Amino acid sequence: MKSLACYAVQSNTTLGRVHSEPVEPTQSGRNPFQRDRDRIIHSTAFRRLEYKTQVFLNHEGDHFRNRLTHSLEVAQIGRAVARRLQLNEDLVEAISLAHDLGHTPFGHAGQDALNGCMKDHGGFEHNLQSLWVVDFLEERYAKWDGLNLSYETREGILKHCSAKNAQTLGLLGQRFINGMQPSLEAQLANLADEIAYNNHDIDDGIRSGLLTIEQMDEVALWRDQKDIVQKSFPGLSGRRMVYEVVRHIIHVLVDDLVKETQQRIKAANPLSVDDVRKEKSLVAFSGLMREQATEMKRFLFKNLYRHPQVNEMTKNASDMIVALFNHFEKHPQDIPSDFRPKDEIYRRISHYIAGMTDRYANKEFQKLITK
Ligand code: MG
Repeated sequence: MKSLACYAVQSNTTLGRVHSEPVEPTQSGRNPFQRDRDRIIHSTAFRRLEYKTQVFLNHEGDHFRNRLTHSLEVAQIGRAVARRLQLNEDLVEAISLAHDLGHTPFGHAGQDALNGCMKDHGGFEHNLQSLWVVDFLEERYAKWDGLNLSYETREGILKHCSAKNAQTLGLLGQRFINGMQPSLEAQLANLADEIAYNNHDIDDGIRSGLLTIEQMDEVALWRDQKDIVQKSFPGLSGRRMVYEVVRHIIHVLVDDLVKETQQRIKAANPLSVDDVRKEKSLVAFSGLMREQATEMKRFLFKNLYRHPQVNEMTKNASDMIVALFNHFEKHPQDIPSDFRPKDEIYRRISHYIAGMTDRYANKEFQKLITK
């Protein structure tokens, strides 16, 4: 394995865990970020990702992405780029696998609905919720709540945070107050997320019939890569053509990201992670690719995420979350008594609902509300 660049997060200089733990022996043991990854994979919240909606509801088909397969795709893209940039691949993997742990059931609809319910009670932020999952909602250790992950993994998980909540997070919240950057590994996981969802949503959108192949020609990135594919494979059509084009798009996005990031790193010349944190963001697409990726994002927003059929699902999901929230507000005894009994009631309800899978939320709704 190539050695890490000086601006990568080095495993042996991690800022450590909240609760100190013995280091594993260097020869046979895992480094701190490999341990973080393993803890994330063994967590309950990670297994629940399989039954949480990415865009399409879980029961709509066997081949659509869910939050688990999405997270695996993010980790795959993130690791491949990390290797090329000599960044810490283990850290990128850990952040990628954990980045969506705080998501509610029913995708963004669920999140917006829960945020609405929590408007007067501190709000709901899914990035902060992901941090809370690994910091205290997982109950697996005899000595502490949460997974006790390394600082750098937690930094990467907390992609966004409101200024108000940042005040409560000590060192981890400082960068939102001071306008500083996280590590390059965290910046990379963020863009790997974008590359993954843009591309798998095209695939899922076409698979579902909500997007047509012809309609995709509106998008420059698609058009350009489709031309290249059709020149190499005249007459190729249907699913194989879609896969080839999506593969090509991922490839050009990754290639552009690597090249632009290398240039920015060369210009800024950071010599350590501390230097990286003081710079503007260094992991980025070139100007043209940023425009094209944004065009693709806008296209998906308009034609897929706001498609009438998706809107209908969204409306039902929001109604269900609001109904559950109102129900637990009136009947807190319907929350299991051992679930966060000391929390303030609204935050307790929010944690409980956020942790639900789509099907568990459905089941609770049927049992408690439509009985
Ligand atoms: Mg994501």
